[in-house]
Amino acid sequence: MADVLSVINPATEALIQEVPVDDEAAVAQKFKQAKRAQPEWAALSLAERIKPILRFRELLIERVDVLATLLTSETGKPITQARNEILAVPGRIDFFVENAADVLAPERVYCEPAQALPGMGTLEEVIGYDPLGVIANISAWNYPYFVGGNVFIPALLMGNAVLYKPSEVAALTGGAIADLLHDAGIPKDVFMPVIGSGLTGAALLEQPIDGVFFTGSYATGQKIAVAAAPKLIRTQLELGGKDPAYVCPDANVAVAAAGLADGAFYNNGQSCCAVERIYVHADVYDEFLEAFMKTVKSFKLGDSTDPDTYLGPVSRKPQLDVLADQVADAVAKGAALRWGGERLDRPGWYFAPTVLTEVNHTMTVMQEESFGPVIGIQRVASDEEAVGLMQDTPYGLTAAVYGTDRERAIAILRQLKTGSAYWNCCDRVSPRLPWSGRGHSGLGATLSRAGISTFLQPRAWHLRAG
Ligand code: NAD
Repeated sequence: MADVLSVINPATEALIQEVPVDDEAAVAQKFKQAKRAQPEWAALSLAERIKPILRFRELLIERVDVLATLLTSETGKPITQARNEILAVPGRIDFFVENAADVLAPERVYCEPAQALPGMGTLEEVIGYDPLGVIANISAWNYPYFVGGNVFIPALLMGNAVLYKPSEVAALTGGAIADLLHDAGIPKDVFMPVIGSGLTGAALLEQPIDGVFFTGSYATGQKIAVAAAPKLIRTQLELGGKDPAYVCPDANVAVAAAGLADGAFYNNGQSCCAVERIYVHADVYDEFLEAFMKTVKSFKLGDSTDPDTYLGPVSRKPQLDVLADQVADAVAKGAALRWGGERLDRPGWYFAPTVLTEVNHTMTVMQEESFGPVIGIQRVASDEEAVGLMQDTPYGLTAAVYGTDRERAIAILRQLKTGSAYWNCCDRVSPRLPWSGRGHSGLGATLSRAGISTFLQPRAWHLRAG
């Protein structure tokens, strides 16, 4: 394991900082501290745990400029999108705080009156809820505030201690999140950042943790599942996607084109629920393509620190080769390259926004997660053909249908095995709804009440009055 992580600015390729890495011994020590601190934290009243979370909420807003600048520097995320991400966290906190008491409340599910026999007083059956204990929160870099906060905020509210491993691509932001939580009053040992690459993540899984909540790729998710299996602990995996969208012949084409272009290219396509495949009915194909291209060509690409920039660099250098390979594979198999298609000749890891048409499912661009500014658009002759193609993936995160007929859209979406279904919208997450994947997109759910109760385990209380 290297001693330091080199944090590089994807827009300039300059070294920002070298960050010390937690080795196995440091990880073990952090686990010990968290294990010792957790019972005291869980013994506080819910109101006492809510207080520092609400202070964290205030600090996010107060310090948004500094935090957004840091996030932009290490991931290349355009500054406006970095601010949007941070400023959306308070809404999620509000949902968690408003629902925490209800989720935690014990439920009396049965009460038997006392009998006139010795030792046979009233019998109550009560379901109580205990925190899991010390959990590992292993996170991705693309939305560190969202994917981290969806775990550590409800986990802390429910009385758990959290060992938080930010991605190596967002390590400075991970440290900043920890500082913010500590400044807000979360005890240092109750929330501990664990800094490093996948090796540090693997070392964290060696510890006797009580749960693992992972966000990242399918390939790493499988490794997490294997490492967690013998421990028999709560394991949640929020993984990748190859999310499809279908434009019906009755769609409002202008709305569909604008919505899907944003869904495909927001955050440079580096969203788990980015639109990755578009199927368009032949009746509206030409009109859709024209409107879609117009929107894509209007996106401002450039300096991530400019508030008007919509497309920055990709956050990880190896992704440039993945994208170039997908484009080359598609073109070799007969796709038409309508726009972009290559790395830009400028400093930084910039890949031109890329639109491919005449694509089919023999091409990797329609099969494997692109996770970048590349989209394939395929013409279809019917709803049935669209459904067949949308289903042709091992992933199942989201799917979208654009059209004016609600029943038709819902009938299509019902046939797809996805955790989220969108009608006339896409690339959307709500704190009130469960965020989950089917198939290779993962296990378990965050957000919604299910995403709070997942940090608890039920206990059956059989209480007989003496
Ligand atoms: P990744 O799988 O490369 O890394 C994720 C995290 O796992 C990082 O912190 C990494 O250091 C750690 N890790 C790597 N190997 C490990 C190991 N053997 N043991 C323990 N930890 C290990 O993913 P990424 O590049 O950070 O994120 C991109 C992926 O995440 C995409 O596939 C994207 O779709 C997915 N994602 C999913 C969601 C969702 O909610 N479903 C949200 C965001 C991102």
